[in-house]
Amino acid sequence: MSEIKLSKVVVYGLGAMGRPMARNLHDHGLLIGVKNRTEGKAMAMMNELNLAEFEDDEDMFSHADCVLTCVSADDDLQAVVQDFIDYLQPGSVVIDCSTVSPNTARSLADDLASKGIAFMDAPVSGGVEGAKKGSLSIMVGAEREQYKRASEVFAAIGSQITHMGRVGQGQATKAVNQVMVAGVAQAVCSALALAENCNLDLKKTIEVLSAGAAGNWFLENRGHTMVNDEFNVGFKLSLLHKDLKICQSTVEELGAHMPLIEDSIKEYAQLMARDHGDEDISALIRLKRELFNQAGENHE
Ligand code: NAP
Repeated sequence: MSEIKLSKVVVYGLGAMGRPMARNLHDHGLLIGVKNRTEGKAMAMMNELNLAEFEDDEDMFSHADCVLTCVSADDDLQAVVQDFIDYLQPGSVVIDCSTVSPNTARSLADDLASKGIAFMDAPVSGGVEGAKKGSLSIMVGAEREQYKRASEVFAAIGSQITHMGRVGQGQATKAVNQVMVAGVAQAVCSALALAENCNLDLKKTIEVLSAGAAGNWFLENRGHTMVNDEFNVGFKLSLLHKDLKICQSTVEELGAHMPLIEDSIKEYAQLMARDHGDEDISALIRLKRELFNQAGENHE
Protein backbone atom coordinates (compact mmCIF):
# COMPACT_ATOMS: atom_id res chain seq x y z
CA MET A 1 0.00 0.00 0.00
CA SER A 2 2.65 2.49 1.05
CA GLU A 3 4.52 2.18 -2.29
CA ILE A 4 1.54 3.17 -4.40
CA LYS A 5 2.19 6.56 -6.00
CA LEU A 6 -0.12 9.40 -5.05
CA SER A 7 -2.42 10.28 -7.93
CA LYS A 8 -5.69 11.72 -6.53
CA VAL A 9 -4.90 15.11 -5.07
CA VAL A 10 -7.17 17.73 -3.50
CA VAL A 11 -5.55 21.17 -3.19
CA TYR A 12 -6.71 23.11 -0.10
CA GLY A 13 -5.84 26.81 -0.25
CA LEU A 14 -6.23 28.62 -3.57
CA GLY A 15 -4.18 31.72 -2.87
CA ALA A 16 -1.43 33.19 -5.03
CA MET A 17 0.61 29.97 -4.67
CA GLY A 18 -2.11 27.30 -4.41
CA ARG A 19 -3.94 28.29 -7.61
CA PRO A 20 -1.01 27.76 -10.00
CA MET A 21 0.00 24.59 -8.13
CA ALA A 22 -3.52 23.23 -8.64
CA ARG A 23 -3.35 24.08 -12.35
CA ASN A 24 -0.04 22.25 -12.73
CA LEU A 25 -1.33 19.19 -10.87
CA HIS A 26 -4.36 19.24 -13.17
CA ASP A 27 -2.11 19.42 -16.26
CA HIS A 28 -0.36 16.28 -14.98
CA GLY A 29 -3.67 14.44 -14.45
CA LEU A 30 -3.25 14.36 -10.66
CA LEU A 31 -5.98 16.75 -9.42
CA ILE A 32 -9.41 15.50 -8.37
CA GLY A 33 -10.68 18.51 -6.40
CA VAL A 34 -10.04 21.90 -4.82
CA LYS A 35 -11.13 23.54 -1.58
CA ASN A 36 -10.82 27.09 -0.30
CA ARG A 37 -12.16 29.03 2.70
CA THR A 38 -13.66 31.64 0.37
CA GLU A 39 -15.77 29.25 -1.64
CA GLY A 40 -16.06 31.43 -4.75
CA LYS A 41 -12.37 30.81 -5.53
CA ALA A 42 -12.90 27.05 -5.44
CA MET A 43 -16.00 27.31 -7.66
CA ALA A 44 -14.08 29.46 -10.16
CA MET A 45 -11.22 26.95 -10.31
CA MET A 46 -13.59 23.99 -10.66
CA ASN A 47 -15.19 25.72 -13.63
CA GLU A 48 -11.85 26.73 -15.15
CA LEU A 49 -10.46 23.19 -14.93
CA ASN A 50 -13.76 21.47 -15.57
CA LEU A 51 -13.41 19.33 -12.44
CA ALA A 52 -16.07 16.77 -11.57
CA GLU A 53 -18.37 17.77 -8.69
CA PHE A 54 -18.54 15.71 -5.51
CA GLU A 55 -21.64 15.40 -3.35
CA ASP A 56 -19.94 17.20 -0.45
CA ASP A 57 -16.55 17.63 1.27
CA GLU A 58 -16.71 14.19 2.86
CA ASP A 59 -17.25 12.62 -0.55
CA MET A 60 -14.34 14.59 -2.08
CA PHE A 61 -11.77 13.99 0.68
CA SER A 62 -12.64 10.32 1.02
CA HIS A 63 -11.83 9.86 -2.69
CA ALA A 64 -8.42 11.55 -2.35
CA ASP A 65 -5.13 9.82 -1.57
CA CYS A 66 -3.43 13.18 -0.98
CA VAL A 67 -4.40 16.64 0.26
CA LEU A 68 -1.93 19.36 -0.65
CA THR A 69 -2.38 22.35 1.67
CA CYS A 70 -1.07 25.85 0.98
CA VAL A 71 -2.49 28.39 3.44
CA SER A 72 -1.12 31.46 5.19
CA ALA A 73 0.19 30.54 8.63
CA ASP A 74 0.37 28.00 11.49
CA ASP A 75 -3.12 28.57 12.95
CA ASP A 76 -4.71 28.49 9.51
CA LEU A 77 -3.06 25.18 8.73
CA GLN A 78 -4.20 23.71 12.07
CA ALA A 79 -7.74 24.87 11.26
CA VAL A 80 -7.92 23.47 7.73
CA VAL A 81 -6.59 20.06 8.75
CA GLN A 82 -9.58 19.76 11.13
CA ASP A 83 -11.83 20.18 8.06
CA PHE A 84 -10.73 16.90 6.50
CA ILE A 85 -8.95 14.78 9.12
CA ASP A 86 -12.11 12.71 9.71
CA TYR A 87 -12.79 12.18 6.01
CA LEU A 88 -9.40 11.04 4.69
CA GLN A 89 -8.80 7.32 4.27
CA PRO A 90 -6.05 5.64 6.30
CA GLY A 91 -2.96 5.36 4.07
CA SER A 92 -3.53 8.78 2.53
CA VAL A 93 -1.05 11.64 2.81
CA VAL A 94 -1.16 15.34 3.65
CA ILE A 95 1.54 17.40 1.92
CA ASP A 96 1.82 20.88 3.35
CA CYS A 97 3.43 23.53 1.14
CA SER A 98 2.67 26.46 3.47
CA THR A 99 5.49 28.10 5.42
CA VAL A 100 4.88 27.24 9.10
CA SER A 101 7.07 26.35 12.05
CA PRO A 102 8.85 22.97 12.28
CA ASN A 103 6.95 22.40 15.56
CA THR A 104 3.56 22.82 13.87
CA ALA A 105 4.65 20.33 11.19
CA ARG A 106 5.70 17.77 13.80
CA SER A 107 2.56 18.16 15.90
CA LEU A 108 0.26 17.81 12.87
CA ALA A 109 2.20 14.73 11.78
CA ASP A 110 1.46 13.18 15.20
CA ASP A 111 -2.27 14.07 15.03
CA LEU A 112 -2.61 12.61 11.56
CA ALA A 113 -0.55 9.50 12.36
CA SER A 114 -3.12 8.59 15.03
CA LYS A 115 -5.63 8.23 12.14
CA GLY A 116 -3.22 6.30 9.91
CA ILE A 117 -2.57 9.35 7.71
CA ALA A 118 0.98 10.39 6.77
CA PHE A 119 2.25 13.96 6.71
CA MET A 120 5.06 15.73 4.86
CA ASP A 121 6.21 19.30 5.27
CA ALA A 122 7.11 20.57 1.82
CA PRO A 123 7.61 24.34 1.94
CA VAL A 124 8.59 25.96 -1.31
CA SER A 125 10.78 28.73 -2.65
CA GLY A 126 10.54 30.40 -6.04
CA GLY A 127 7.53 32.65 -5.54
CA VAL A 128 4.36 32.97 -7.57
CA GLU A 129 6.46 32.95 -10.74
CA GLY A 130 7.98 29.58 -9.80
CA ALA A 131 4.55 28.24 -8.86
CA LYS A 132 3.17 29.25 -12.28
CA LYS A 133 6.08 27.71 -14.17
CA GLY A 134 6.04 24.54 -12.04
CA SER A 135 9.67 25.25 -11.18
CA LEU A 136 9.49 25.62 -7.39
CA SER A 137 12.32 24.53 -5.15
CA ILE A 138 10.75 22.12 -2.62
CA MET A 139 12.33 21.16 0.71
CA VAL A 140 10.69 18.04 2.05
CA GLY A 141 10.55 16.63 5.56
CA ALA A 142 9.12 13.11 5.45
CA GLU A 143 9.68 9.42 5.92
CA ARG A 144 11.60 8.21 2.87
CA GLU A 145 8.90 5.84 1.61
CA GLN A 146 6.23 8.55 1.79
CA TYR A 147 8.56 10.94 -0.02
CA LYS A 148 8.95 8.38 -2.82
CA ARG A 149 5.16 8.00 -3.11
CA ALA A 150 4.85 11.72 -3.78
CA SER A 151 7.48 11.95 -6.54
CA GLU A 152 4.94 12.63 -9.32
CA VAL A 153 3.07 15.22 -7.25
CA PHE A 154 6.32 17.08 -6.54
CA ALA A 155 7.47 16.82 -10.18
CA ALA A 156 4.23 18.52 -11.27
CA ILE A 157 4.87 21.63 -9.18
CA GLY A 158 8.63 21.87 -8.77
CA SER A 159 11.96 21.39 -10.50
CA GLN A 160 14.33 21.13 -7.51
CA ILE A 161 12.93 18.63 -5.02
CA THR A 162 15.08 17.67 -2.06
CA HIS A 163 14.38 15.27 0.77
CA MET A 164 15.84 17.08 3.80
CA GLY A 165 15.13 14.39 6.40
CA ARG A 166 12.35 13.64 8.85
CA VAL A 167 9.16 15.69 9.33
CA GLY A 168 10.03 19.26 10.37
CA GLN A 169 13.34 19.37 8.47
CA GLY A 170 11.65 20.87 5.40
CA GLN A 171 10.38 23.79 7.48
CA ALA A 172 13.75 24.12 9.22
CA THR A 173 15.36 24.46 5.77
CA LYS A 174 12.78 27.07 4.81
CA ALA A 175 13.61 29.05 7.97
CA VAL A 176 17.28 29.01 6.92
CA ASN A 177 16.21 30.22 3.46
CA GLN A 178 14.18 33.10 4.91
CA VAL A 179 17.07 34.28 7.10
CA MET A 180 19.13 34.44 3.90
CA VAL A 181 16.36 36.24 2.00
CA ALA A 182 16.04 38.82 4.78
CA GLY A 183 19.82 39.33 4.93
CA VAL A 184 20.14 39.82 1.18
CA ALA A 185 17.23 42.32 1.26
CA GLN A 186 18.93 44.21 4.11
CA ALA A 187 22.21 44.37 2.19
CA VAL A 188 20.81 45.36 -1.21
CA CYS A 189 18.24 47.90 0.08
CA SER A 190 20.86 49.59 2.30
CA ALA A 191 23.46 49.64 -0.49
CA LEU A 192 21.11 51.07 -3.13
CA ALA A 193 19.88 53.77 -0.72
CA LEU A 194 23.57 54.71 -0.34
CA ALA A 195 24.01 54.69 -4.13
CA GLU A 196 21.05 57.07 -4.50
CA ASN A 197 22.55 59.43 -1.94
CA CYS A 198 25.97 59.34 -3.66
CA ASN A 199 24.13 60.50 -6.82
CA LEU A 200 25.37 57.49 -8.77
CA ASP A 201 23.86 56.45 -12.07
CA LEU A 202 21.68 53.67 -10.64
CA LYS A 203 21.29 51.72 -13.86
CA LYS A 204 25.07 51.54 -14.29
CA THR A 205 25.58 50.76 -10.60
CA ILE A 206 23.19 47.79 -10.69
CA GLU A 207 24.73 46.54 -13.94
CA VAL A 208 28.34 46.68 -12.82
CA LEU A 209 27.69 45.30 -9.33
CA SER A 210 25.55 42.45 -10.65
CA ALA A 211 28.54 41.20 -12.63
CA GLY A 212 30.91 41.24 -9.64
CA ALA A 213 31.31 39.60 -6.23
CA ALA A 214 28.25 41.39 -4.78
CA GLY A 215 26.01 40.19 -7.61
CA ASN A 216 22.88 38.30 -6.56
CA TRP A 217 19.34 37.42 -7.71
CA PHE A 218 17.64 40.11 -5.62
CA LEU A 219 19.88 42.90 -6.97
CA GLU A 220 19.37 41.76 -10.56
CA ASN A 221 15.61 41.20 -10.30
CA ARG A 222 14.50 43.84 -7.80
CA GLY A 223 17.27 46.47 -8.06
CA HIS A 224 15.76 48.41 -10.97
CA THR A 225 12.19 48.16 -9.67
CA MET A 226 13.03 49.38 -6.16
CA VAL A 227 14.99 52.42 -7.34
CA ASN A 228 11.95 53.29 -9.49
CA ASP A 229 9.64 52.94 -6.46
CA GLU A 230 7.86 49.91 -7.96
CA PHE A 231 6.96 47.55 -5.16
CA ASN A 232 3.95 45.73 -6.56
CA VAL A 233 6.00 42.76 -7.84
CA GLY A 234 7.27 39.72 -5.96
CA PHE A 235 7.02 38.58 -2.34
CA LYS A 236 4.70 40.39 0.09
CA LEU A 237 6.67 41.79 3.01
CA SER A 238 3.91 40.80 5.47
CA LEU A 239 4.63 37.16 4.54
CA LEU A 240 8.37 37.58 5.15
CA HIS A 241 7.53 39.20 8.50
CA LYS A 242 5.46 36.12 9.40
CA ASP A 243 8.28 33.82 8.27
CA LEU A 244 10.86 35.75 10.29
CA LYS A 245 8.82 35.16 13.44
CA ILE A 246 9.24 31.44 12.74
CA CYS A 247 13.00 31.97 12.23
CA GLN A 248 13.10 33.92 15.51
CA SER A 249 11.49 31.13 17.54
CA THR A 250 13.64 28.48 15.82
CA VAL A 251 16.79 30.42 16.79
CA GLU A 252 15.51 31.06 20.33
CA GLU A 253 14.76 27.37 20.87
CA LEU A 254 18.45 26.80 20.19
CA GLY A 255 19.34 29.35 22.87
CA ALA A 256 20.58 31.99 20.43
CA HIS A 257 19.64 35.46 19.26
CA MET A 258 20.17 36.91 15.77
CA PRO A 259 20.19 40.70 15.31
CA LEU A 260 19.52 40.29 11.57
CA ILE A 261 16.18 38.61 12.36
CA GLU A 262 15.25 41.06 15.16
CA ASP A 263 16.04 44.14 13.05
CA SER A 264 14.20 42.81 10.02
CA ILE A 265 11.09 41.94 12.06
CA LYS A 266 11.08 45.45 13.54
CA GLU A 267 11.52 47.15 10.18
CA TYR A 268 8.94 45.10 8.30
CA ALA A 269 6.47 45.70 11.17
CA GLN A 270 7.10 49.43 10.74
CA LEU A 271 6.31 49.19 7.02
CA MET A 272 3.15 47.16 7.76
CA ALA A 273 2.02 49.82 10.25
CA ARG A 274 2.34 52.34 7.42
CA ASP A 275 0.12 50.22 5.13
CA HIS A 276 2.94 48.79 2.99
CA GLY A 277 2.34 45.16 4.05
CA ASP A 278 1.24 44.06 0.58
CA GLU A 279 4.34 45.47 -1.10
CA ASP A 280 7.40 43.46 -2.15
CA ILE A 281 10.15 43.01 0.45
CA SER A 282 12.32 45.46 -1.54
CA ALA A 283 10.09 48.24 -0.09
CA LEU A 284 12.57 48.05 2.80
CA ILE A 285 14.52 50.66 0.82
CA ARG A 286 11.90 53.20 2.01
CA LEU A 287 13.34 52.90 5.55
CA LYS A 288 16.97 52.81 4.38
CA ARG A 289 16.42 56.13 2.52
CA GLU A 290 15.15 57.67 5.74
CA LEU A 291 18.56 57.02 7.35
CA PHE A 292 19.99 59.65 5.01
CA ASN A 293 17.15 62.13 5.64
CA GLN A 294 17.82 61.78 9.37
CA ALA A 295 21.56 62.30 8.77
CA GLY A 296 20.71 65.51 6.82
CA GLU A 297 18.56 66.77 9.70
CA ASN A 298 21.37 66.05 12.18
CA HIS A 299 23.79 68.13 10.08
CA GLU A 300 21.46 71.17 10.09
P1 NAP B 1 -2.30 34.07 -0.14
O1 NAP B 1 -2.38 34.43 -1.56
O2 NAP B 1 -2.53 35.13 0.88
O3 NAP B 1 -3.36 32.88 0.10
C1 NAP B 1 -3.58 32.36 1.37
C2 NAP B 1 -4.50 31.15 1.28
O4 NAP B 1 -4.70 30.64 2.60
C3 NAP B 1 -5.90 31.50 0.74
O5 NAP B 1 -6.40 30.41 0.00
C4 NAP B 1 -6.69 31.69 2.04
O6 NAP B 1 -8.10 31.51 1.87
C5 NAP B 1 -6.11 30.59 2.87
N1 NAP B 1 -6.34 30.80 4.31
C6 NAP B 1 -5.77 31.72 5.11
N2 NAP B 1 -6.22 31.61 6.37
C7 NAP B 1 -7.10 30.57 6.37
C8 NAP B 1 -7.87 29.95 7.37
N3 NAP B 1 -7.84 30.37 8.65
N4 NAP B 1 -8.66 28.92 7.02
C9 NAP B 1 -8.70 28.49 5.75
N5 NAP B 1 -7.96 29.03 4.73
C10 NAP B 1 -7.17 30.05 5.06
O7 NAP B 1 -0.90 33.40 0.25
P2 NAP B 1 0.14 32.68 -0.71
O8 NAP B 1 1.05 33.70 -1.30
O9 NAP B 1 -0.58 31.72 -1.61
O10 NAP B 1 1.01 31.88 0.38
C11 NAP B 1 0.57 30.66 0.91
C12 NAP B 1 1.72 30.04 1.72
O11 NAP B 1 2.86 29.86 0.87
C13 NAP B 1 2.19 30.93 2.88
O12 NAP B 1 2.52 30.14 4.00
C14 NAP B 1 3.42 31.61 2.31
O13 NAP B 1 4.33 32.01 3.33
C15 NAP B 1 3.98 30.53 1.42
N6 NAP B 1 4.83 31.03 0.32
C16 NAP B 1 4.43 32.11 -0.42
C17 NAP B 1 5.24 32.57 -1.44
C18 NAP B 1 4.84 33.76 -2.29
O14 NAP B 1 5.69 34.26 -3.05
N7 NAP B 1 3.61 34.23 -2.24
C19 NAP B 1 6.47 31.94 -1.71
C20 NAP B 1 6.83 30.84 -0.95
C21 NAP B 1 6.00 30.39 0.06
P3 NAP B 1 -9.05 32.73 1.40
O15 NAP B 1 -8.97 32.74 -0.08
O16 NAP B 1 -10.37 32.38 1.92
O17 NAP B 1 -8.49 33.98 2.03
